[in-house]
Amino acid sequence: MNLQPLEQELKQRLPSPNGVALAIMDACRRDKTTLQDVIKLVQADPALSGRILAQANSAIMGGRPVASIPEAVSRMGMQAVRQLALTFSLLDQYTKGSCTAFDYAGFWSHSLLMGLAMSEVAAPQRLGSVEELFTCGLLARVGSLALATAYPQDYGRLLSTGTTGPKLLALERELLNIDHLHLSAAMLRDWGIPDSYVDPVAFHEDPTAAPFSVGTRSRLLCQSLHLAMQIADFVVAPKIEQAFKLSLLTDAASKLGIDGSELGKSVDSVVAQWKVWGEHLRITTSSLPSFESIVGEMVRPDQENNAQWLRVLVVEDDPIIRSMLQTWLQDTSHHTVMTAVNGREALEKALEFKPHVVLTDWRMPVMDGLELCQSLRGSEWGQSIYVLMLTSADNEEDLVRAFDAGVDDYIAKPVNMRALSARLKGAWRYVRLREAWEVDHERLTRMASELALSNRQLQQAALTDPLTSLANRRAGLAALSQAYSACTRHGLALSVISIDIDHFKAINDTHGHAAGDVVLRQIANTIKAGSRKDDTVCRWGGEEFLVISPNVNLEDAVHAAERLRRQIAALDMQVRGKPVPVTASFGLAAWNAKLASQDQLLSLADEALYKSKSGGRNRVSVSR
Ligand code: GH3
Ligand code: MG
Ligand code: MG
Ligand code: MG
Repeated sequence: MNLQPLEQELKQRLPSPNGVALAIMDACRRDKTTLQDVIKLVQADPALSGRILAQANSAIMGGRPVASIPEAVSRMGMQAVRQLALTFSLLDQYTKGSCTAFDYAGFWSHSLLMGLAMSEVAAPQRLGSVEELFTCGLLARVGSLALATAYPQDYGRLLSTGTTGPKLLALERELLNIDHLHLSAAMLRDWGIPDSYVDPVAFHEDPTAAPFSVGTRSRLLCQSLHLAMQIADFVVAPKIEQAFKLSLLTDAASKLGIDGSELGKSVDSVVAQWKVWGEHLRITTSSLPSFESIVGEMVRPDQENNAQWLRVLVVEDDPIIRSMLQTWLQDTSHHTVMTAVNGREALEKALEFKPHVVLTDWRMPVMDGLELCQSLRGSEWGQSIYVLMLTSADNEEDLVRAFDAGVDDYIAKPVNMRALSARLKGAWRYVRLREAWEVDHERLTRMASELALSNRQLQQAALTDPLTSLANRRAGLAALSQAYSACTRHGLALSVISIDIDHFKAINDTHGHAAGDVVLRQIANTIKAGSRKDDTVCRWGGEEFLVISPNVNLEDAVHAAERLRRQIAALDMQVRGKPVPVTASFGLAAWNAKLASQDQLLSLADEALYKSKSGGRNRVSVSR
């Protein structure tokens, strides 16, 4: 993976460690530094000492309790202590900042969850030490904090659009030239975190896009980070979004072979540690019922009280009606409510509040309910909001206008609470369906991209020779047909070179089949490296190769073949210290107007090859 080094100008604006942490990081960069030096530095900072001890004694570490800093530091090792010092230092300094749209407290709360979840899921797979996995998870999203710190205004504006996922990454790259994932990775690298942790960080939002091969540590780390992120997302999700987050979470877990009950135990353990650490580090946490009971509640069939926990935006200019609606929705029905006095204010608040339902009056000053509804429907984010309109009368004309403007339902004024309750059930069902649709849609999109990938891989495999990685005979034939028809149509030149290794059977017989394979591969590489970009080099059969050279006349092809012949003869191949001399014979032919088919062209090349063999091998012959 290629990471740009951070530009100096940007680097100065990014979050960075200070004080003792900086001293420890500097010390660890020097070769001479001993564990004793690090212990002394840690002991100079009582707060850091306390945290290191707490980490050493935390539930995830297990083992016997540690009472002293020297013991804790020796047990963890210098690198882990260095990374913890870095993490704690950032955490102390950047709990607030000037980017108003960035939720600093929420960021650290989520990061702490990710750190703990990472140790919880990745340590049992032996992907790293508990402390290193903890810091890797905790800092995996530090790029977001960094963008908020470096560009408080621009990034704030971007965040306030409510964009997330791949779209957010694309916008970040467009506006700020770097996205939060690549920035996280670049910063971690800059802080000396080993590459093996850094590379997976850059892909943890979508491991399917990562370049790591199946079964490698990088891939497992990347998937674990993704799972840690899903755990954190799930834990902090508002109740209404839990079902959706849960489906993403179980999906991520199953990719790592973790089943539901195992996942539940991990999530509960992470939440318990989160609360302890949160107190310790003064990070906001919240209480959460056990994973099992959350899931249990979700799968219970529809009940009266299920139409709860909607985010409702009440838009009403009359203060008495507004407060009555708010009180009823909030206190009696336990929805989350925000209010606005006209359509304009509602639009502003809706961006941030992301309501499931907008309950709006029709007639209001500044911007009325109809205009509000039209504006919502005109924006991408407003289309899925359920709009419930308060109308004064059952005037048919008005209702038609309201539905034309895009309202989902209406309710007559004065509002009867039982009627409102019934309408909200409709809204609730809509929100649930929409969530389910989003989950399906996300799954389908992912499946489609995974399928496309495996189709490409299959196609690739079907056209490649597995031993030499050259094009196989099938791909060679396809390339020849294409070149042949281009040259007959436009009268362009075309040469083919048939190559056969000399006395290859003897190499197998003397040194074994495996050695024969090595020789084949080496010769394939030599031919490939010695050919032009436009040539197709394929393995035609056992120890035979074919080079198809469009736009090359016979004379130039002879030069090319002669060069290849010399290169092969000059190869210094050895098997178990014994030299294995190899040569190959070449047969050439070029297209001319007398030829009736591409098969005739191949036969000519074969004839020429036969001449080379019978003439003593290791030579180039031509048929015209
Ligand atoms: P000549 O100079 O006349 O071409 O002699 P030769 O021994 O090269 O020709 P022959 O056609 O008699 O033998 C080709 C040998 O190539 C026989 C076969 O076992 C070997 N061969 C074919 N494919 C592979 C392969 O994938 N790996 C190995 N190691 N040997 C192979
Ligand atoms: Mg009004
Ligand atoms: Mg042969
Ligand atoms: Mg041969």
